[in-house]
Formats: sequence, C-alpha cells, structure tokens
Amino acid sequence: MKILTCILSLLFLLTTRQEDARYAGERSRMVETQIAARGITDQATLRAMGKVPRHLFVPPSYASEAYSDRPLPIGYSQTISQPFIVAYMTQLARPEKGKKALEIGTGSGYQAAVLAEIIDTVYTIEIVPELAREATARLKMLGYNNIKTRYGDGYRGWPEKAPFDIIIVTAAADHIPEPLKEQLAEGGRLVMPVGNPATVQQLIVLTKRKGKITEQRLEPVRFVPLKRLK
Ligand code: SAH
Repeated sequence: MKILTCILSLLFLLTTRQEDARYAGERSRMVETQIAARGITDQATLRAMGKVPRHLFVPPSYASEAYSDRPLPIGYSQTISQPFIVAYMTQLARPEKGKKALEIGTGSGYQAAVLAEIIDTVYTIEIVPELAREATARLKMLGYNNIKTRYGDGYRGWPEKAPFDIIIVTAAADHIPEPLKEQLAEGGRLVMPVGNPATVQQLIVLTKRKGKITEQRLEPVRFVPLKRLK
C-alpha cells in the first residue's frame, strides 16, 4: 500500500512538473496583465501568485481556463475567486513572514496556498465536507505542510489557535462574525466581503489596535454566501 502511494505520488509530481512548464507562461502573464497592471504592488503577493499552480486547484475540465480573468466553479455550487481578487485580499491582509492566518472558506485551497507561500502558518476551515477533504488532500500532495485544514462552521473561528495576525473570510455575510473579531491579534487585519450575500458586497478591512477596532470600506465584490451549520 505504501509503495503504491509512493508510485502514485511520484507520477503525480511528474505530471505536475510537465503541466507546470506548460502553464508557467500563462501564470506569469496572469500576474503581469491581471494583477500587477491593476495596481497590486506587494512583492510577496506577486511572487506567491506567480508560484502557486492554480491549474491544480480547479477541476481538470477547467484547467485550461485556470489563469483566465474570472472565478471558476469548483463543485458543490462554490467557486474559486478570480485571480485579481485573491491577490487583492492577500495584499490587504499585509502578509509577512512570522505571521499566522485564519481563512474561512477553504474551497479549493488556493487562497490558503497563496498565503502559505508568504507567511508561517495558515489555518483554514471549510463547511462542505467534500471540499474540505479534497482541499486537504490537494494541499498535502503539493507539500503545503504549513496549512492546517479543518471541516466545520468558520463563523466560530478556530479559538484553540487564536489569536491570528490575519483573518481572511472568502464567503459573504451581512455582518462580521463576532468570534472572528475576538480572535484577531493586536495589530491584526481581517478582510471580508460584507453586504447582501445574495447580490453585492463590499470588501471590508478591520484593524485591531490597542484593542480598538477600525473599519475601512473598499471595492464592491461578489462572493458566495457564508453558510451556517444548523
Ligand atoms: N477561498 C476559496 C474560495 C472560497 S468560495 C479558494 O481559494 O478556492 C467560499 C467557500 O466558503 C466555499 O467553499 C464554501 O463552502 C465555504 N463556506 C461557506 N460558509 C462557510 C462557513 N460558515 N465556514 C467555512 N466555510 C464556509
């Protein structure tokens, strides 16, 4: 069984290498034309977006569209965000080595991987069990040992691992969950789409300084709704 797993992993890695070579051009064009050209200047974010193999985070039938300028379906009525939005939220979170992040809405695991290229540890929670399982397997296969995944309702955050320097919520609600505000570290930043989950939201950045929270309202965005476990 172990040998079979090794052989499969090796085959996967070889395929990944070939695909990487094929998709590398598309990826650097994506960074140049969709991300840098639209004002993302954080070097760590640009580097991470240029590194993470996005084509391995979408269903195989969408791999050839992985670097296009739009969100894509990942099954279970969920989507992987448009590359620019991932880069924008990453830059807004001010990722740096030494920081610890919490993501709500693992989805494909792509946003978590982008963060994990820059910071120390990423904790991520997904409410759809199948997506949680798939993302966990994918991130493990790609060697992201600094990402800890969990199935559950992210509304409550991950109190055992709090506080977090960065909290990114990649699903929309009409308010910011109180437990997430509580789990934000001193000097931390929380990025989340807030508004009508069925239509349009606004990207909000919360900053905690000396225990006081300040809010900044940014661009209009569209995310899938934040669900709740009954
Ligand atoms: N960040 C993802 C895309 C997010 S799509 C990526 O990079 O691919 C939003 C995800 O949030 C979906 O997978 C959805 O199932 C999940 N979600 C919705 N409500 C949630 C909740 N309460 N807790 C955790 N995950 C949730």
